[in-house]
Amino acid sequence: MQLLYVRYLANRPVDEIQCVAQTRRRHRCTSPLLTPETLAGFWTLVPITATHAQLPLHGAAMAVYALTGLPYAEQLRWWAQRCSEHAATPATADVAVVEWEPFDPLIHHQHIRTRLPTLTRRQGPADRSGRETQS
Ligand SMILES: [Zn+2]
Repeated sequence: MQLLYVRYLANRPVDEIQCVAQTRRRHRCTSPLLTPETLAGFWTLVPITATHAQLPLHGAAMAVYALTGLPYAEQLRWWAQRCSEHAATPATADVAVVEWEPFDPLIHHQHIRTRLPTLTRRQGPADRSGRETQS
């Protein structure tokens, strides 16, 4: 996840990231951050860079869910890990801490995907024998 120009590792899939605010019943809000009503980010490939030395590692790319195109307030909402409803009520207490972990390619290398998620779902067997004849 790329958010406010920083890369973070979430502890669950993007569409399952849950609001951390406390409900009136003192339970954790179960609303996801990403809903059909909210602005969505997009998957993109970015160079793998070390956190401190911003140098590309191996010239490789990895898939990130980028929120950089979203309005600043919307990125702040993700960073605060709140659903649309609780982002509008900042006074509401958080019942859980935000689950973002600053992404470090050396520590989190097992989470690196070098292909975009949609491109990994191939239909049928992969043809590695060569290019298909263009018709
Ligand atoms: Zn909420």
